[in-house]
Amino acid sequence: LSERLSGVFDRLTKQGALSEDDVKTALREVRVALLEADVSLPVARDFVKAVQDKATGQSVTKSVTPGQQVVKIVHDALVDVLRGEGEPGSLKIDNAPAPILMVGLQGSGKTTTTAKLAKRLKEKDGKRVLMASLDVNRPAAMEQLQILGTQIGVDTLPIIKGEDPVTIAKRAKTQASLGGYDVYMLDTAGRLSIDEELMAQVEAVRDVANPRETLLVVDGLTGQDAVHTAENFDERIGISGVVLTRMDGDGRGGAALSMRAVTGKPIKFVGLGEKMDALETFEPERVAGRILGMGDIVALVEKAQQTIEAEQAERMMKRFQKGQFNMNDLKMQLEQMIKMGGMEGMMSMLPGAAKMSKQMEGAGIDDRMLRQQIALINSMTKKERANPQLLQASRKKRIAKGSGMDVSDLNKLLKMQRQMADMMKKMGKMGKGGMLKQAMK
Ligand code: GDP
Ligand code: MG
Repeated sequence: LSERLSGVFDRLTKQGALSEDDVKTALREVRVALLEADVSLPVARDFVKAVQDKATGQSVTKSVTPGQQVVKIVHDALVDVLRGEGEPGSLKIDNAPAPILMVGLQGSGKTTTTAKLAKRLKEKDGKRVLMASLDVNRPAAMEQLQILGTQIGVDTLPIIKGEDPVTIAKRAKTQASLGGYDVYMLDTAGRLSIDEELMAQVEAVRDVANPRETLLVVDGLTGQDAVHTAENFDERIGISGVVLTRMDGDGRGGAALSMRAVTGKPIKFVGLGEKMDALETFEPERVAGRILGMGDIVALVEKAQQTIEAEQAERMMKRFQKGQFNMNDLKMQLEQMIKMGGMEGMMSMLPGAAKMSKQMEGAGIDDRMLRQQIALINSMTKKERANPQLLQASRKKRIAKGSGMDVSDLNKLLKMQRQMADMMKKMGKMGKGGMLKQAMK
Protein backbone atom coordinates (compact mmCIF):
# COMPACT_ATOMS: atom_id res chain seq x y z
CA LEU A 1 0.00 0.00 0.00
CA SER A 2 2.74 2.42 0.97
CA GLU A 3 4.21 2.37 -2.50
CA ARG A 4 0.94 2.71 -4.30
CA LEU A 5 -0.09 5.61 -2.10
CA SER A 6 3.16 7.46 -2.41
CA GLY A 7 2.82 7.18 -6.17
CA VAL A 8 -0.53 8.85 -5.99
CA PHE A 9 0.67 11.40 -3.51
CA ASP A 10 3.53 12.45 -5.72
CA ARG A 11 1.00 13.50 -8.27
CA LEU A 12 -0.98 15.54 -5.82
CA THR A 13 -0.64 19.26 -6.17
CA LYS A 14 1.47 21.05 -3.64
CA GLN A 15 -0.64 23.86 -2.39
CA GLY A 16 -1.84 25.40 0.82
CA ALA A 17 -5.08 23.53 1.24
CA LEU A 18 -6.30 20.09 0.31
CA SER A 19 -8.37 20.37 -2.84
CA GLU A 20 -11.31 18.11 -3.48
CA ASP A 21 -9.30 16.32 -6.14
CA ASP A 22 -6.32 15.74 -3.85
CA VAL A 23 -8.58 14.20 -1.30
CA LYS A 24 -10.52 12.10 -3.80
CA THR A 25 -7.37 10.71 -5.35
CA ALA A 26 -5.83 9.79 -2.03
CA LEU A 27 -9.03 8.35 -0.65
CA ARG A 28 -9.52 6.06 -3.60
CA GLU A 29 -6.33 4.35 -2.51
CA VAL A 30 -7.28 4.44 1.13
CA ARG A 31 -10.49 2.63 0.25
CA VAL A 32 -8.53 -0.12 -1.44
CA ALA A 33 -6.26 -0.30 1.59
CA LEU A 34 -9.26 -0.75 3.85
CA LEU A 35 -10.64 -3.53 1.70
CA GLU A 36 -7.25 -5.22 1.65
CA ALA A 37 -7.26 -5.03 5.43
CA ASP A 38 -10.56 -6.96 5.41
CA VAL A 39 -12.81 -4.07 6.22
CA SER A 40 -16.23 -4.85 4.79
CA LEU A 41 -17.26 -2.96 1.67
CA PRO A 42 -20.18 -0.90 3.00
CA VAL A 43 -18.17 0.07 6.07
CA ALA A 44 -15.20 1.13 3.96
CA ARG A 45 -17.45 3.12 1.66
CA ASP A 46 -19.20 5.00 4.46
CA PHE A 47 -15.97 5.66 6.22
CA VAL A 48 -14.24 7.08 3.17
CA LYS A 49 -17.18 9.33 2.44
CA ALA A 50 -17.18 10.74 5.95
CA VAL A 51 -13.47 11.45 5.73
CA GLN A 52 -13.80 13.09 2.36
CA ASP A 53 -16.16 15.72 3.70
CA LYS A 54 -13.86 16.38 6.61
CA ALA A 55 -10.58 16.55 4.72
CA THR A 56 -11.44 18.81 1.83
CA GLY A 57 -10.30 22.34 2.47
CA GLN A 58 -8.04 21.53 5.40
CA SER A 59 -4.75 23.30 5.23
CA VAL A 60 -1.63 21.32 4.52
CA THR A 61 1.12 21.51 7.07
CA LYS A 62 4.38 22.69 5.59
CA SER A 63 7.01 19.98 5.12
CA VAL A 64 4.50 17.21 4.55
CA THR A 65 2.75 16.39 1.31
CA PRO A 66 -1.01 16.62 0.82
CA GLY A 67 -1.08 12.83 0.56
CA GLN A 68 0.61 12.42 3.92
CA GLN A 69 -1.81 14.88 5.35
CA VAL A 70 -4.76 12.85 4.04
CA VAL A 71 -3.32 9.74 5.64
CA LYS A 72 -3.16 11.53 8.96
CA ILE A 73 -6.76 12.63 8.63
CA VAL A 74 -7.83 9.12 7.70
CA HIS A 75 -5.87 7.73 10.63
CA ASP A 76 -7.50 10.10 13.10
CA ALA A 77 -10.94 9.28 11.75
CA LEU A 78 -10.17 5.57 12.08
CA VAL A 79 -9.14 6.04 15.68
CA ASP A 80 -12.39 7.89 16.33
CA VAL A 81 -14.51 5.09 14.92
CA LEU A 82 -12.50 2.39 16.65
CA ARG A 83 -12.49 4.01 20.06
CA GLY A 84 -16.18 4.19 20.90
CA GLU A 85 -17.34 5.25 24.32
CA GLY A 86 -16.11 4.13 27.67
CA GLU A 87 -12.72 3.17 28.95
CA PRO A 88 -11.16 0.45 26.80
CA GLY A 89 -10.53 -2.71 28.76
CA SER A 90 -12.99 -1.89 31.52
CA LEU A 91 -15.63 -4.38 32.60
CA LYS A 92 -18.80 -4.01 34.65
CA ILE A 93 -18.07 -6.39 37.45
CA ASP A 94 -19.41 -4.73 40.56
CA ASN A 95 -22.09 -6.54 42.62
CA ALA A 96 -20.28 -9.78 43.32
CA PRO A 97 -20.53 -12.36 42.02
CA ALA A 98 -20.65 -10.75 38.57
CA PRO A 99 -21.27 -13.17 35.71
CA ILE A 100 -19.30 -12.79 32.48
CA LEU A 101 -20.59 -14.77 29.51
CA MET A 102 -18.14 -15.69 26.78
CA VAL A 103 -19.65 -16.39 23.37
CA GLY A 104 -18.38 -16.95 19.83
CA LEU A 105 -17.73 -19.51 17.16
CA GLN A 106 -15.73 -22.65 17.80
CA GLY A 107 -12.01 -22.09 17.63
CA SER A 108 -12.31 -18.33 17.97
CA GLY A 109 -10.40 -18.48 21.23
CA LYS A 110 -13.17 -18.41 23.86
CA THR A 111 -11.63 -20.87 26.26
CA THR A 112 -8.17 -19.36 25.98
CA THR A 113 -9.56 -15.85 26.38
CA THR A 114 -11.67 -16.89 29.38
CA ALA A 115 -8.53 -18.03 31.16
CA LYS A 116 -6.48 -15.02 30.05
CA LEU A 117 -9.14 -12.64 31.28
CA ALA A 118 -9.51 -14.52 34.55
CA LYS A 119 -5.79 -14.20 35.10
CA ARG A 120 -5.90 -10.52 34.35
CA LEU A 121 -8.83 -9.91 36.71
CA LYS A 122 -7.04 -11.82 39.43
CA GLU A 123 -3.67 -10.16 39.01
CA LYS A 124 -4.59 -6.64 37.96
CA ASP A 125 -7.83 -6.12 39.81
CA GLY A 126 -7.34 -8.50 42.70
CA LYS A 127 -10.58 -10.31 41.96
CA ARG A 128 -11.51 -13.80 43.04
CA VAL A 129 -12.61 -15.54 39.89
CA LEU A 130 -14.42 -18.82 39.23
CA MET A 131 -14.43 -20.28 35.72
CA ALA A 132 -16.93 -22.78 34.38
CA SER A 133 -16.97 -24.55 31.04
CA LEU A 134 -20.41 -25.08 29.50
CA ASP A 135 -18.97 -26.81 26.48
CA VAL A 136 -20.64 -30.18 26.61
CA ASN A 137 -20.29 -30.76 22.89
CA ARG A 138 -16.59 -31.07 22.38
CA PRO A 139 -14.77 -33.88 24.14
CA ALA A 140 -12.12 -32.64 26.54
CA ALA A 141 -13.31 -29.04 26.28
CA MET A 142 -14.09 -28.89 29.99
CA GLU A 143 -10.77 -30.40 30.89
CA GLN A 144 -9.05 -27.80 28.74
CA LEU A 145 -10.38 -25.00 30.92
CA GLN A 146 -9.57 -26.95 34.07
CA ILE A 147 -5.96 -27.36 33.01
CA LEU A 148 -5.65 -23.68 32.20
CA GLY A 149 -7.18 -22.85 35.59
CA THR A 150 -4.57 -24.91 37.40
CA GLN A 151 -1.86 -23.27 35.34
CA ILE A 152 -2.91 -19.71 36.22
CA GLY A 153 -4.14 -20.43 39.74
CA VAL A 154 -7.81 -19.71 39.13
CA ASP A 155 -10.57 -22.01 40.40
CA THR A 156 -12.80 -23.91 38.00
CA LEU A 157 -16.19 -25.37 38.68
CA PRO A 158 -15.88 -29.13 39.31
CA ILE A 159 -16.88 -31.12 36.25
CA ILE A 160 -19.98 -33.30 36.47
CA LYS A 161 -20.41 -35.42 33.34
CA GLY A 162 -23.82 -35.44 31.69
CA GLU A 163 -25.01 -32.02 32.83
CA ASP A 164 -26.51 -29.62 30.30
CA PRO A 165 -25.20 -26.04 29.91
CA VAL A 166 -28.07 -24.38 31.76
CA THR A 167 -27.63 -26.66 34.77
CA ILE A 168 -23.91 -25.96 34.81
CA ALA A 169 -24.57 -22.22 34.65
CA LYS A 170 -26.90 -22.44 37.65
CA ARG A 171 -24.38 -24.47 39.58
CA ALA A 172 -21.69 -21.93 38.77
CA LYS A 173 -23.88 -19.13 40.07
CA THR A 174 -24.58 -20.93 43.35
CA GLN A 175 -20.96 -21.89 43.81
CA ALA A 176 -19.82 -18.33 43.07
CA SER A 177 -22.19 -16.90 45.70
CA LEU A 178 -21.37 -19.48 48.34
CA GLY A 179 -17.66 -19.37 47.65
CA GLY A 180 -17.43 -15.58 47.89
CA TYR A 181 -16.18 -15.07 44.34
CA ASP A 182 -16.19 -11.59 42.79
CA VAL A 183 -16.64 -12.83 39.25
CA TYR A 184 -17.70 -16.04 37.57
CA MET A 185 -17.00 -16.66 33.94
CA LEU A 186 -19.08 -18.90 31.72
CA ASP A 187 -17.21 -20.34 28.75
CA THR A 188 -19.77 -21.54 26.22
CA ALA A 189 -19.55 -24.02 23.38
CA GLY A 190 -19.19 -22.81 19.81
CA ARG A 191 -20.11 -24.16 16.38
CA LEU A 192 -18.16 -23.81 13.22
CA SER A 193 -20.87 -21.52 11.98
CA ILE A 194 -23.87 -19.95 13.55
CA ASP A 195 -26.82 -22.29 13.90
CA GLU A 196 -30.14 -22.33 15.65
CA GLU A 197 -29.19 -24.90 18.25
CA LEU A 198 -26.14 -22.95 19.34
CA MET A 199 -28.07 -19.72 19.62
CA ALA A 200 -30.93 -21.29 21.57
CA GLN A 201 -28.43 -22.82 23.97
CA VAL A 202 -26.57 -19.57 24.55
CA GLU A 203 -29.87 -17.74 24.98
CA ALA A 204 -31.00 -20.17 27.66
CA VAL A 205 -27.71 -19.74 29.51
CA ARG A 206 -27.97 -15.96 29.25
CA ASP A 207 -31.44 -16.07 30.78
CA VAL A 208 -30.36 -17.97 33.88
CA ALA A 209 -27.06 -16.16 34.34
CA ASN A 210 -28.08 -12.57 33.60
CA PRO A 211 -24.52 -11.69 32.66
CA ARG A 212 -23.06 -8.29 33.52
CA GLU A 213 -20.85 -8.61 30.47
CA THR A 214 -21.40 -10.72 27.39
CA LEU A 215 -18.17 -10.76 25.47
CA LEU A 216 -18.05 -11.92 21.89
CA VAL A 217 -14.74 -13.55 21.08
CA VAL A 218 -13.87 -13.13 17.41
CA ASP A 219 -10.92 -14.35 15.43
CA GLY A 220 -9.31 -11.16 14.14
CA LEU A 221 -8.12 -12.97 11.06
CA THR A 222 -11.56 -13.88 9.79
CA GLY A 223 -12.21 -10.48 8.28
CA GLN A 224 -15.57 -10.11 6.62
CA ASP A 225 -17.06 -13.21 8.30
CA ALA A 226 -16.44 -11.67 11.66
CA VAL A 227 -19.01 -9.04 10.82
CA HIS A 228 -21.79 -11.57 10.21
CA THR A 229 -20.87 -13.36 13.39
CA ALA A 230 -20.97 -10.17 15.40
CA GLU A 231 -24.27 -9.09 13.88
CA ASN A 232 -25.87 -12.45 14.59
CA PHE A 233 -24.68 -12.77 18.15
CA ASP A 234 -25.60 -9.20 18.95
CA GLU A 235 -29.10 -9.53 17.54
CA ARG A 236 -29.82 -12.79 19.23
CA ILE A 237 -27.92 -12.64 22.51
CA GLY A 238 -27.02 -8.99 22.93
CA ILE A 239 -23.31 -8.50 23.43
CA SER A 240 -21.65 -5.85 25.60
CA GLY A 241 -18.23 -5.99 24.02
CA VAL A 242 -15.83 -7.74 21.69
CA VAL A 243 -12.50 -9.46 22.19
CA LEU A 244 -10.44 -9.79 19.02
CA THR A 245 -8.08 -12.74 19.09
CA ARG A 246 -5.10 -13.68 16.91
CA MET A 247 -4.09 -10.09 16.51
CA ASP A 248 -0.54 -11.40 16.78
CA GLY A 249 -0.98 -12.92 13.31
CA ASP A 250 -0.32 -11.06 10.13
CA GLY A 251 -3.93 -10.10 9.56
CA ARG A 252 -4.48 -6.40 9.16
CA GLY A 253 -7.19 -6.10 11.77
CA GLY A 254 -9.81 -4.69 9.45
CA ALA A 255 -12.39 -6.79 11.27
CA ALA A 256 -12.04 -4.38 14.15
CA LEU A 257 -13.30 -1.45 12.11
CA SER A 258 -16.13 -3.42 10.54
CA MET A 259 -17.25 -4.72 13.86
CA ARG A 260 -17.23 -1.33 15.49
CA ALA A 261 -19.17 0.16 12.60
CA VAL A 262 -21.71 -2.66 12.41
CA THR A 263 -22.42 -3.40 16.07
CA GLY A 264 -21.38 -0.15 17.69
CA LYS A 265 -20.11 -2.28 20.58
CA PRO A 266 -16.74 -1.53 22.12
CA ILE A 267 -13.74 -3.70 21.41
CA LYS A 268 -12.40 -4.31 24.87
CA PHE A 269 -9.38 -6.55 24.53
CA VAL A 270 -7.14 -8.09 21.92
CA GLY A 271 -5.51 -11.50 22.09
CA LEU A 272 -1.89 -11.48 21.01
CA GLY A 273 -0.84 -15.08 21.31
CA GLU A 274 -1.50 -18.43 22.90
CA LYS A 275 0.21 -17.66 26.21
CA MET A 276 -1.87 -16.75 29.21
CA ASP A 277 -0.58 -13.19 29.47
CA ALA A 278 -1.08 -12.45 25.77
CA LEU A 279 -4.18 -10.34 26.33
CA GLU A 280 -4.07 -6.58 26.11
CA THR A 281 -6.43 -3.66 26.39
CA PHE A 282 -7.62 -2.65 22.95
CA GLU A 283 -5.70 0.37 21.66
CA PRO A 284 -7.42 2.16 18.77
CA GLU A 285 -4.22 3.94 17.68
CA ARG A 286 -2.35 0.72 17.25
CA VAL A 287 -5.05 -0.98 15.24
CA ALA A 288 -5.63 2.13 13.11
CA GLY A 289 -1.93 2.23 12.29
CA ARG A 290 -2.03 -1.42 11.38
CA ILE A 291 -5.07 -1.11 9.13
CA LEU A 292 -3.46 1.72 7.21
CA GLY A 293 0.01 0.28 7.51
CA MET A 294 1.40 3.81 7.56
CA GLY A 295 2.26 4.52 11.15
CA ASP A 296 5.41 6.41 10.21
CA ILE A 297 3.60 8.95 8.13
CA VAL A 298 1.16 9.68 10.89
CA ALA A 299 3.97 10.29 13.34
CA LEU A 300 5.75 12.47 10.81
CA VAL A 301 2.76 14.69 10.22
CA GLU A 302 2.11 15.02 13.93
CA LYS A 303 5.67 16.05 14.53
CA ALA A 304 5.65 18.54 11.70
CA GLN A 305 2.50 20.13 13.03
CA GLN A 306 3.86 20.41 16.53
CA THR A 307 7.13 21.86 15.36
CA ILE A 308 5.45 24.46 13.25
CA GLU A 309 3.13 25.51 16.04
CA ALA A 310 6.01 25.78 18.44
CA GLU A 311 8.09 27.73 15.94
CA GLN A 312 5.27 30.12 15.23
CA ALA A 313 4.62 30.71 18.90
CA GLU A 314 8.30 31.27 19.54
CA ARG A 315 8.68 33.74 16.68
CA MET A 316 5.57 35.59 17.72
CA MET A 317 6.71 35.88 21.28
CA LYS A 318 10.09 37.26 20.30
CA ARG A 319 8.41 39.96 18.25
CA PHE A 320 5.92 40.82 20.95
CA GLN A 321 8.67 41.24 23.50
CA LYS A 322 10.24 43.85 21.30
CA GLY A 323 6.97 45.70 21.21
CA GLN A 324 6.22 44.59 17.68
CA PHE A 325 2.55 43.96 17.68
CA ASN A 326 0.91 44.88 14.41
CA MET A 327 -2.57 44.63 12.99
CA ASN A 328 -2.02 41.07 11.79
CA ASP A 329 -1.26 40.07 15.34
CA LEU A 330 -4.24 41.97 16.62
CA LYS A 331 -6.49 40.32 14.07
CA MET A 332 -5.27 36.93 15.15
CA GLN A 333 -5.92 37.79 18.77
CA LEU A 334 -9.39 39.04 17.96
CA GLU A 335 -10.17 35.86 16.09
CA GLN A 336 -8.89 33.87 19.03
CA MET A 337 -11.11 35.82 21.35
CA ILE A 338 -14.15 34.96 19.32
CA LYS A 339 -13.12 31.32 19.29
CA MET A 340 -12.48 31.24 23.00
CA GLY A 341 -15.74 32.76 23.99
CA GLY A 342 -15.04 36.44 23.85
CA MET A 343 -13.01 38.87 25.82
CA GLU A 344 -13.25 37.29 29.22
CA GLY A 345 -11.85 33.96 28.15
CA MET A 346 -8.93 35.62 26.45
CA MET A 347 -8.11 38.16 29.07
CA SER A 348 -8.35 35.75 31.94
CA MET A 349 -5.46 33.95 30.34
CA LEU A 350 -3.24 36.98 30.17
CA PRO A 351 -1.90 37.71 33.61
CA GLY A 352 -1.72 41.40 34.31
CA ALA A 353 -4.38 42.11 31.76
CA ALA A 354 -7.25 42.04 34.19
CA LYS A 355 -7.31 45.82 34.35
CA MET A 356 -7.43 46.13 30.63
CA SER A 357 -10.17 43.55 30.48
CA LYS A 358 -12.25 45.75 32.77
CA GLN A 359 -11.60 48.72 30.53
CA MET A 360 -12.68 46.82 27.51
CA GLU A 361 -15.79 45.57 29.19
CA GLY A 362 -16.52 49.14 30.07
CA ALA A 363 -16.12 50.05 26.43
CA GLY A 364 -18.73 47.41 25.59
CA ILE A 365 -16.55 45.03 23.67
CA ASP A 366 -18.45 41.95 22.68
CA ASP A 367 -18.57 39.46 19.87
CA ARG A 368 -20.18 41.85 17.41
CA MET A 369 -17.59 44.46 18.24
CA LEU A 370 -14.80 41.99 17.73
CA ARG A 371 -16.12 41.15 14.30
CA GLN A 372 -16.35 44.81 13.38
CA GLN A 373 -12.76 45.29 14.42
CA ILE A 374 -11.71 42.36 12.28
CA ALA A 375 -13.61 43.92 9.39
CA LEU A 376 -11.63 47.13 9.88
CA ILE A 377 -8.36 45.26 9.78
CA ASN A 378 -9.50 43.39 6.69
CA SER A 379 -9.97 46.72 4.91
CA MET A 380 -6.34 47.63 5.44
CA THR A 381 -3.65 46.88 2.91
CA LYS A 382 -0.92 44.42 3.70
CA LYS A 383 1.50 47.26 4.31
CA GLU A 384 -0.86 49.07 6.62
CA ARG A 385 -1.46 45.98 8.68
CA ALA A 386 2.24 45.46 9.19
CA ASN A 387 2.84 49.15 9.94
CA PRO A 388 -0.22 50.70 11.57
CA GLN A 389 1.67 53.98 12.02
CA LEU A 390 1.17 54.57 8.28
CA LEU A 391 -2.48 55.26 8.94
CA GLN A 392 -2.98 58.97 8.31
CA ALA A 393 -6.26 60.77 7.79
CA SER A 394 -6.92 59.81 4.16
CA ARG A 395 -6.08 56.18 4.68
CA LYS A 396 -8.24 56.10 7.77
CA LYS A 397 -11.20 57.46 5.83
CA ARG A 398 -10.76 54.84 3.13
CA ILE A 399 -10.57 52.01 5.64
CA ALA A 400 -13.57 53.19 7.62
CA LYS A 401 -15.60 53.49 4.46
CA GLY A 402 -14.44 50.11 3.21
CA SER A 403 -15.65 48.38 6.33
CA GLY A 404 -18.77 50.44 6.86
CA MET A 405 -17.51 51.97 10.09
CA ASP A 406 -16.52 55.39 11.41
CA VAL A 407 -13.04 56.80 11.67
CA SER A 408 -13.62 57.04 15.41
CA ASP A 409 -14.03 53.24 15.51
CA LEU A 410 -10.74 52.89 13.70
CA ASN A 411 -9.08 55.23 16.15
CA LYS A 412 -10.27 53.08 19.00
CA LEU A 413 -8.83 50.04 17.28
CA LEU A 414 -5.49 51.79 16.80
CA LYS A 415 -5.43 52.75 20.43
CA MET A 416 -6.11 49.19 21.38
CA GLN A 417 -3.30 47.95 19.18
CA ARG A 418 -0.86 50.41 20.78
CA GLN A 419 -1.97 49.42 24.25
CA MET A 420 -1.54 45.77 23.46
CA ALA A 421 1.91 46.40 22.01
CA ASP A 422 2.93 48.27 25.16
CA MET A 423 1.55 45.62 27.38
CA MET A 424 3.32 42.83 25.52
CA LYS A 425 6.59 44.69 25.70
CA LYS A 426 6.24 45.24 29.43
CA MET A 427 5.37 41.66 30.02
CA GLY A 428 8.28 40.57 27.91
CA LYS A 429 10.63 42.58 30.08
CA MET A 430 9.08 41.30 33.27
CA GLY A 431 10.07 37.68 33.00
CA LYS A 432 11.95 37.12 29.79
CA GLY A 433 8.61 36.25 28.30
CA GLY A 434 7.83 33.78 31.01
CA MET A 435 4.41 35.25 31.56
CA LEU A 436 3.67 35.64 27.94
CA LYS A 437 4.74 32.12 27.28
CA GLN A 438 2.40 31.03 30.02
CA ALA A 439 -0.40 33.09 28.57
CA MET A 440 0.02 31.69 25.11
CA LYS A 441 -0.17 28.05 26.06
P1 GDP B 1 -12.61 -21.91 21.48
O1 GDP B 1 -13.02 -23.07 20.67
O2 GDP B 1 -13.31 -20.67 21.05
O3 GDP B 1 -12.72 -22.13 22.94
O4 GDP B 1 -11.06 -21.65 21.15
P2 GDP B 1 -9.77 -21.99 22.02
O5 GDP B 1 -9.67 -21.07 23.18
O6 GDP B 1 -9.75 -23.45 22.34
O7 GDP B 1 -8.61 -21.58 21.01
C1 GDP B 1 -8.38 -22.26 19.80
C2 GDP B 1 -6.91 -22.12 19.45
O8 GDP B 1 -6.57 -20.77 19.20
C3 GDP B 1 -5.98 -22.55 20.55
O9 GDP B 1 -4.92 -23.30 20.00
C4 GDP B 1 -5.46 -21.27 21.17
O10 GDP B 1 -4.20 -21.41 21.73
C5 GDP B 1 -5.45 -20.37 19.97
N1 GDP B 1 -5.57 -18.95 20.31
C6 GDP B 1 -6.51 -18.35 21.08
N2 GDP B 1 -6.31 -17.02 21.15
C7 GDP B 1 -5.21 -16.75 20.42
C8 GDP B 1 -4.49 -15.54 20.09
O11 GDP B 1 -4.82 -14.42 20.51
N3 GDP B 1 -3.41 -15.69 19.29
C9 GDP B 1 -3.01 -16.91 18.82
N4 GDP B 1 -1.95 -16.94 18.02
N5 GDP B 1 -3.66 -18.04 19.09
C10 GDP B 1 -4.76 -17.99 19.88
MG1 MG C 1 -13.59 -23.69 23.97
